[in-house]
Amino acid sequence: MHHPDWFIVDDSRFRSLILPNARLERLWSEGRWCEGPAYFAAGRYLLWSDIPNDRILRFDDNDDHVSVFRQPAGFSNGHSVDREGRLISCEHGTRSVTRTEHNGRITTLAEAFDGCRFNSPNDVTVKSDGSIWFTDPSYGIDSDYEGGLRDSEMGCHVYCLRPDGRLIRVADDFEKPNSLAFSPDESWLYVSDTGATHRDGGPRHIRRFRVEEDHRLSGGEVFAISDCGLFDGFRFDIAGNLWTSAGDGVHCYAPDGTRLGRIAVPETVANVCFGGPARNRLFICASTSLYAIFLDTRGHHVLGEAVSPSAVRTPTTR
Ligand code: MG
Repeated sequence: MHHPDWFIVDDSRFRSLILPNARLERLWSEGRWCEGPAYFAAGRYLLWSDIPNDRILRFDDNDDHVSVFRQPAGFSNGHSVDREGRLISCEHGTRSVTRTEHNGRITTLAEAFDGCRFNSPNDVTVKSDGSIWFTDPSYGIDSDYEGGLRDSEMGCHVYCLRPDGRLIRVADDFEKPNSLAFSPDESWLYVSDTGATHRDGGPRHIRRFRVEEDHRLSGGEVFAISDCGLFDGFRFDIAGNLWTSAGDGVHCYAPDGTRLGRIAVPETVANVCFGGPARNRLFICASTSLYAIFLDTRGHHVLGEAVSPSAVRTPTTR
């Protein structure tokens, strides 16, 4: 029996999530440090950041064409799509979180807390209630390479911009909070800490928190520890399995914390995102390249498909 060498099974459950005859595809390879993928289902395209080159790139899922979406781009890093289909971006250069409106204008959503400027917002996710959650480590102000060398005005924390416009700090016990994502039922928020970049023996794990009614978090136990590289960015599939970046590829964890398997990628992976019309294709930002692989699962997506009951009510006549 032929065993493709692109995946490693750690737990037999992994076999039901992959397509053995699929292959890792390298779609593009002209970047310096690719990060922050976000898929726009309506337009069938993927946006992602090439941080040191200060640009946002666009992969057209219809014809595989790659073009520059925005440059300069505020040294953008992580992206997400909000409920209205708008691009939400973390920017190292402006040290802010922005939204690109339907008319193309860029709105600053958050740039300071308690009078102190953010360090360099890194990754962002949007909850189904419209709240915007993001991390603020120092990577974009530690050097001129991924932003600009600046003084830090406060520690590296996690924030939530509530639907009412109020910005709150939701976690303050991280060294370098990096990526974050909600479990499919949104009862848990997972946040990675990549503090090992700055301190020997520092954290290289993902923690998970209970999401409370008032946008507060509780708990925060360690969910998974990386044995290779860092958990920079991650996303959930519809079954609640977590697909995360690691030093040697993509690692997949079951909701119970068991590592199910790994996808080997020949470059250090920074972040992943599900896309395609069926959301069964995992796009992988890895160092200089964008990769993709089809899986036998679908990405969790709170947007677009999660319609409110009033939006789908059938018109009636009388
Ligand atoms: Mg990151």
